[in-house]
Amino acid sequence: MRAESLSLAEARARVRAAVRPLAAIEAPLSEAVGRALAADVRAPHALPPFRNSSMDGFAVRSADSDGWRRVHETLAAGAGSARPLGAGEAARIMTGAPLPDGADAVVPFEEADESAEGDAPRMRARGPIAPGANIRDAGADLAAGAVALAKGRTLGPHDVGLLAALGVTRVPVGGVPRAAIVSTGDELLPPDAPLAPGRIRDSNRPVLELLLAEAGARVVSSVHAPDDPARVEAAIRDALGMADVVLTIGGVSAGDFDPVKQSLDAIGGIALWRVAMKPGRPQAFGAPGDRLFFGLPGNPASVACVFEVLVRPAVRALAGHGETERPRLDVRVAERIESRAGRTDFVRATLAHEADGWWARAAGAQVSGHLTPQSRAHALVEIPERSAALEPGEPASAILLRWPEHDGM
Ligand code: AMP
Ligand code: MG
Repeated sequence: MRAESLSLAEARARVRAAVRPLAAIEAPLSEAVGRALAADVRAPHALPPFRNSSMDGFAVRSADSDGWRRVHETLAAGAGSARPLGAGEAARIMTGAPLPDGADAVVPFEEADESAEGDAPRMRARGPIAPGANIRDAGADLAAGAVALAKGRTLGPHDVGLLAALGVTRVPVGGVPRAAIVSTGDELLPPDAPLAPGRIRDSNRPVLELLLAEAGARVVSSVHAPDDPARVEAAIRDALGMADVVLTIGGVSAGDFDPVKQSLDAIGGIALWRVAMKPGRPQAFGAPGDRLFFGLPGNPASVACVFEVLVRPAVRALAGHGETERPRLDVRVAERIESRAGRTDFVRATLAHEADGWWARAAGAQVSGHLTPQSRAHALVEIPERSAALEPGEPASAILLRWPEHDGM
């Protein structure tokens, strides 16, 4: 099978076109956080549901003449309907209590004088009373029937608060993509094994398990297969049988023993790609039987980069998220960064915020096999296809991987 050359933009568009979002399911609010809302939620009633006081004080009619008003009752939060306020009357009212009909302002206790002559408590405002003062109108927060939360939104704790206030206790959310990983390579040892001559430990597989989980997928299988095309083919078939997204690691380039590449013909529906990006060149992609298959390169930097720009957006889209990308920051590069025109380069970078904005600096040598730059990086700085290099001070866009903390590196 010959590899097809394509730009990163083309690769991203093809992956996106292959994504069929998973069927939505109903979830209770306790399970909805982090998931994508699968349909608009409209407010079944207004918020607040009724006109109420935003202060502890006295409900009054602002048009009444200044001076003493008779206080005829006390309204606590949770009170039912109050009797309407007559001319010259006031009601003691607590924060959140419904406003009596006729009242159009609340005078806070600290702005009122009180007196009790005999059995008749009275109050007087110390200053002018503005109509509407200290009142929360029904629907001021959200009107009945308005869209409270839109389809595709990633639900957060405060969205759950809004839904709870509206009495919406179950919402339709996108499905959780099932993911499977197959790492390949006779050199790979599990992380808990002692080193042996010529061997390294499998570091990509635990990274991908965690990145997939962080992206909202459930890893249903994660295995290692030796560089034997038959074994790799069997592992890929198993994975395709149980997962919506299948990732292989390594074995997809031009080496003599690249088993993923050798098994693709037999599996079918998967193409070899040479995507014009660095790190991350040799890859495979396909959608056999409505699954998504990504053959990732083996080098740690390539795995990280391809995951961010191709795999993660697909996982997010499968789960129904409207926003599938990581947040970005506009940065300037603090040093010259080599690149090449005709290819999108990603630089593992640390970020620092100065008085004049964000500055990015390479997090160590950009060698695809090195692990420390990825561990130290806050971001991937994207150097667009058209640029041959970035000079110090030039602007760039950075994909934020984690918030830059002072970690001493
Ligand atoms: P390959 O594409 O299989 O030739 O792998 C490219 C490079 O990545 C080789 O140096 C491999 O040893 C390394 N590599 C492949 N898979 C992994 C892995 N799961 N963890 C760490 N390094 C790997
Ligand atoms: Mg290999």
